[in-house]
Amino acid sequence: MRGFFDPRQLAHAPALELHNGGLIAYAETPARAEMIRAALPALEAADDHGTAPILAVHDAGYVDFLQTAPARWAEAGRAGDVMGYIWPIVGRRPVRLDRIDALAGRYSLDASTPLTADTWGAAYWSAQSALSALDAIRTGDRAAFALCRPPGHHAGRDYLGGYCHLNNAAIAAQAGIDGGMARVAILDVDYHHGNGTQDIFWTRGDVFYASIHADPATDYPFYWGHADEIGEGAGEGATLNLPLPRGSAIDAFRKALAQALAAIASFAPDLAIVSFGADTYVDDPISGFAIQTGDYAMIARDIAECGWPTLIAMEGGYAVDALGRNVAGFLAGF
Ligand SMILES: [Zn+2]
Repeated sequence: MRGFFDPRQLAHAPALELHNGGLIAYAETPARAEMIRAALPALEAADDHGTAPILAVHDAGYVDFLQTAPARWAEAGRAGDVMGYIWPIVGRRPVRLDRIDALAGRYSLDASTPLTADTWGAAYWSAQSALSALDAIRTGDRAAFALCRPPGHHAGRDYLGGYCHLNNAAIAAQAGIDGGMARVAILDVDYHHGNGTQDIFWTRGDVFYASIHADPATDYPFYWGHADEIGEGAGEGATLNLPLPRGSAIDAFRKALAQALAAIASFAPDLAIVSFGADTYVDDPISGFAIQTGDYAMIARDIAECGWPTLIAMEGGYAVDALGRNVAGFLAGF
């Protein structure tokens, strides 16, 4: 299976994030991508598809914010990385976005996703890696891997969050549709619900979103990922959420996976995109499932047996020492 990555994705390296009431070292480190690269055969350089496929998903004002906020933050005399710390209240005064502090709140979901001067470049090339994997499938490959880092599934049309800035899976899905595919399915098997992906396609009937994740009653992103969220309008029934309790192991996971795969099969996609997070791993420091390294091949085989052209896009996974073998195990299983 061909895989894609650009070294510029490593440049994004914020210092700190807000976690459980304190500032801790940023968990989504460049070392994550290095460990995955080291465990796989050589990845190919991503091709540059420009900003058009990014702007087909993301708000232009938000993209401008990602590009310009670090310089504006520094000009305003703010120390450290750009991090939202004040948020507009829905339905109150019209939001004025002339201050960088207001913009940082307007365009962010949380305070755990800082921006540095290198973030835009890294996020841009992460999206290009996903688009390059899509090219491989369009030219006949059955499957392709994109080492997307930073990850993407928490980023919405006009907001960052959960270590995500550009929604790589959504950008690839939209590019598939714009390239003539009638239906694209996104299967999200990261530990966390992909609120951004769900949000982007919430009212769309041409992109099916299925997610297996930790119950939002106990886990990030808390507001979304409940079983009764099924989409609206033309998208009603095109969202499937399968939350699982903390401690879930491979048997419960595969049961939910079978349900997701059956729903996607009924949808009959031209392309499946797997948002693959290895933070379902038993020893992940910020997560609570009990998937073992050897289980990833089984999960991948279940998906591969469905026979769809499949783009695998990297999402989370924070047990850095085990990350390479968990990802390599998944890809080998596929
Ligand atoms: Zn995650």
